Amino acid sequence: MSRRAKIVATIGPSSNSIEMLEKLINAGLNVARINMSHGTHESHAEVIKKIRQASKNTGYEVAILCDLQGPKIRVDKLEKPLELKAGDKWVIGPSSVQEQYPEYKDCFIPTVYENLVKDSHDSALILFDDGLIEARAYGKDRDVLQIEITIGGTLKSNKGINLPDVNISAPSFTKKDREDLLFGLKNNVDYIALSFVRRAEDILAVKYLLHKLKKNTPIISKIEKPEAVTNINEIVEVTDCIMIARGDMGVEVGNHLVPGIQKEIITLCNERGVPVITATQMLESMTNNSRPTRAEANDVANAIWDGTDAVMLSGETASGDYPLAALQTMHNIVLEAEKKPKERPLLRHMDLKSISASLQIAASLIAEKTNARWVLSITQSGNSCLKMSRFRSQKRILGVTNSIEVMRKMCLYWGISPFYFEGDEGQLTNIETQMIDVLKEKKLVANGDKIVITRGDGKFFKQGTSNSLKVEIIKDIPREDVSAKGSDKFQEVKINNGRIILDTSICASCQNCVSVCPHNIWEVSKDDNNNTMINVTNAQNCSKDFECVDKCPTGAIEIIDTDL
Ligand code: PGA
Ligand code: MN
Repeated sequence: MSRRAKIVATIGPSSNSIEMLEKLINAGLNVARINMSHGTHESHAEVIKKIRQASKNTGYEVAILCDLQGPKIRVDKLEKPLELKAGDKWVIGPSSVQEQYPEYKDCFIPTVYENLVKDSHDSALILFDDGLIEARAYGKDRDVLQIEITIGGTLKSNKGINLPDVNISAPSFTKKDREDLLFGLKNNVDYIALSFVRRAEDILAVKYLLHKLKKNTPIISKIEKPEAVTNINEIVEVTDCIMIARGDMGVEVGNHLVPGIQKEIITLCNERGVPVITATQMLESMTNNSRPTRAEANDVANAIWDGTDAVMLSGETASGDYPLAALQTMHNIVLEAEKKPKERPLLRHMDLKSISASLQIAASLIAEKTNARWVLSITQSGNSCLKMSRFRSQKRILGVTNSIEVMRKMCLYWGISPFYFEGDEGQLTNIETQMIDVLKEKKLVANGDKIVITRGDGKFFKQGTSNSLKVEIIKDIPREDVSAKGSDKFQEVKINNGRIILDTSICASCQNCVSVCPHNIWEVSKDDNNNTMINVTNAQNCSKDFECVDKCPTGAIEIIDTDL
């Protein structure tokens, strides 16, 4: 698969069967998201088991992302939907006190959030159901907040309440989040997402908890509160990944501000090397339609051009009518957008002080300049691959690891194809040769292909030791069709009493011939492939000293001397 940006899809009733999961994985799903706002631990455990099974059945690894609900404020259970009309006056209060206010019996909106009234102020803006219904507070009466509806609508049970200009006192990490986190860890999820984070401390608190539990599951911070947008620099500093949670963000800050915030956050994350997921309503209309709107296609492509590492599907795959079509559509849009790649980050923005970072970037550049077929990055923690990913290499990168957990983690990394290599360090002294054999077996290399390999010196899967770089040229695959001369794989030039033949299919474009020939017989083509070619005019000056033949590492050059 040559798509570089990754796809996260939310798993729900429309997608939680083994059959559908297999289809989604085969269609290119990289990260499966479990939304803890819905369902029970039992149902989630079941889904996690099925994802692992489907992944095993298809032979493709996927990461599992456990998305914690956070302090989402909701309307409590209602006996029947409430008709809120513009101009009408209502009160909001915790369900626990509803009985104590018989005078508000017909205009009481119960909420699960106990501190809503305490936190709010008299002119607070109150948004229900993703902003479809709007109200303004005008006062408080003991434990309830008095509000006037400004935009009416029908309010149903459990709908979200957003209070964009109120500082919520509830901790970002709730009691339910803690229970859900422990559940996720027990079930070996690969990423934890925190909803409604506001500042760096919110993330650090969970990091400390993970540390105490001896876990290093990476944390994805969901940016959806105005405060988080303000504190984005310090948040990016401490988090492992970012999710631009455009749903709640749009409600809280206004949709007109979301595109700009998206661009700024992606640019910041790209500069800091922090993977970023662009989420919510990317292909919303596909929840009920088999095709997206043109605006949605633009939205996905633009997120790619903004530089996002991953794009996400929510309701489209969780509860929509076309989960597979949504994933395929997203895959196709991304693939097409990537044909016009964004400028890569500037070298001066890269952290080149660390040996492994500079090594990965050098490897990417070598691979591009020499037109290598593959980069193999042998990694223990996945860190070197993350650094490679950040540089947006144009080449295919295999992140080779002997840890399933690391392999799954790398499913989210832009441009990295995770590759599991079984065996411990002792058995792996010649891992490069073994890896190349695997590539040959899978017919992923041909003679003349170059492979750039980075690894630790001696210790292959040891964290933080990545310090060496090597370029291998494949030359010993038996050729199936040696008699193909005359095809365009061969350039053959008649010279005085002989011929010069170049087998371009195995030429490694190393340019050894170019540098040894005093007559400029060998030259480099001006196209992207840097192919070596014979200059027909200069070829007539060949002195037949066979220097180029001797220096050619792949045996691509043949000089036939009829004088001999
Ligand atoms: P959610 O987060 O789907 O958990 O609400 C994403 C968003 O708010 O955009
Ligand atoms: Mn949200």
